[in-house]
Amino acid sequence: MTTITSNWQAVSAAVDAAAQAAGRTPGTVGLLAVSKTFPAAAVREAYLAGQRAFGESYVQEALDKMAQLADLPLEWHFIGPLQSNKTRLVAEHFAWVHGVDRLKIAERLSAQRPASAPPLNVCIQVNVSGEATKSGVSPEQVEELARAVAALPRLRLRGLMAIPAPADDMAAQHMPFAHLRALQEKINAHGLTLDTLSMGMSHDFVAAIAEGATLVRVGTAIFGQRDYGGAI
Ligand SMILES: *Cc1c(COP(=O)(O)O)cnc(C)c1O
Repeated sequence: MTTITSNWQAVSAAVDAAAQAAGRTPGTVGLLAVSKTFPAAAVREAYLAGQRAFGESYVQEALDKMAQLADLPLEWHFIGPLQSNKTRLVAEHFAWVHGVDRLKIAERLSAQRPASAPPLNVCIQVNVSGEATKSGVSPEQVEELARAVAALPRLRLRGLMAIPAPADDMAAQHMPFAHLRALQEKINAHGLTLDTLSMGMSHDFVAAIAEGATLVRVGTAIFGQRDYGGAI
């Protein structure tokens, strides 16, 4: 068994165990394998272990891997910061985009999504307390942005995403995730139907699952330490 295979099995089991511990139905928490900076061969190994959805942060790197892995039925998620000049490639090649935090970016993605493809799944990044990056819409403005994104024809607004700053203390880990879930509940109470909470990474996915994550984004715990691009 390769390291990636055994890592993947351990992470999958930990995700299921965390879901069960939280009283949630196993299988309601999806695992996104974050393969940024790792070669196509590593993605292929994770696929053979049973993984289908992969997260990438750099457009050109992702396109290179997609070309090398075109024989596999993979689902690609763009999870990096998205600049205007990259929206077309993302709209054309990915199934999901996490981290939309401006209407202008969402409008471009909708306009550029090919008619032949299903609507692009989108999560809005929220800058909840202790956000590790400066990206993300403020909690005060997320509902207004959600309404505008939900109205775009070629997007399917799925939910919210956050990248809290790393915290060792479990209570500190829980807080931003609980905040994101509360925002989702408030928005849904006002008539939208967000079904996704994209939150939790290698160091904090257990806390995220306890707070309702439906999709955890795990890189290091599956593929190992990144030589570069590790910051976010
Ligand atoms: C890199 C990255 C991850 C994975 O982080 P790990 O700590 O390696 O699990 C998750 N989400 C986003 C947005 C990332 O950029």
